[in-house]
Amino acid sequence: MNRIIAIDGPSGSGKSSVSRLVGQRLGFLHVDSGALYRIMTWQCLEHDIDTANPEAVAAFAAKVEVAFEARDGRVVYRVGGEEPGDRIRTPEINAHASPVATVKAVRDRVTAWLRDMVSFGDLIVEGRDITTAVFPDTPARFYLTASAEARTERRRLEEVKKGIANASAEEVKASLLARDRIDSTRKYAPLRKADGVIEIDSTELTLEQVVETVLAALPEGWVQA
Ligand code: C5P
Repeated sequence: MNRIIAIDGPSGSGKSSVSRLVGQRLGFLHVDSGALYRIMTWQCLEHDIDTANPEAVAAFAAKVEVAFEARDGRVVYRVGGEEPGDRIRTPEINAHASPVATVKAVRDRVTAWLRDMVSFGDLIVEGRDITTAVFPDTPARFYLTASAEARTERRRLEEVKKGIANASAEEVKASLLARDRIDSTRKYAPLRKADGVIEIDSTELTLEQVVETVLAALPEGWVQA
């Protein structure tokens, strides 16, 4: 039976960097579940589906085809033979992803894809509902948080680095908090801290400290000396 580390948390809490590094240390494949919701959103926009119309989004979700492959320590996604890359990291996708992710048919499809990935090997899966809905029974579950200011600054620096946007801190913060609000109040699989998860507040911690905290909290035998 392959092992799973589940990590949830709001935007900018450091899930991706932490998951990537912990995955590298342990030889677990990194799975970015948010990218699948972004792909659904990107495809909706490409096909002129109104993302504010849940029925239209639900009907379209069944038609989206994604191919999966384990490569370079992570699971990579392809749509129509191509990796989406930064096309799913734009401010437009940021704005539409949370409404699309409220739709049950979208969540069911993405959840089924994620559960199928267990056949690839040991996984570290990050998202918003991994500890509560996708893999609630795994013994390694974490909830990452950080102050809104720290999360905003991380997201802003990421966007500047990618050259995607040059938004002010206020704009980045407003977009981030709007997503948090939708993600944590939606009807299906909202973002929440589940009972029994290990919470890590990364506001005052370095990335390496968060990685060490995760490694130290894993079940016995998962970390080889
Ligand atoms: O993690 P990332 O910011 O890429 O996720 C994009 C969006 O996808 C989130 O704002 C959220 O609405 C949705 N999402 C989700 N459940 C997950 C992962 C992401 O609803 N497990």
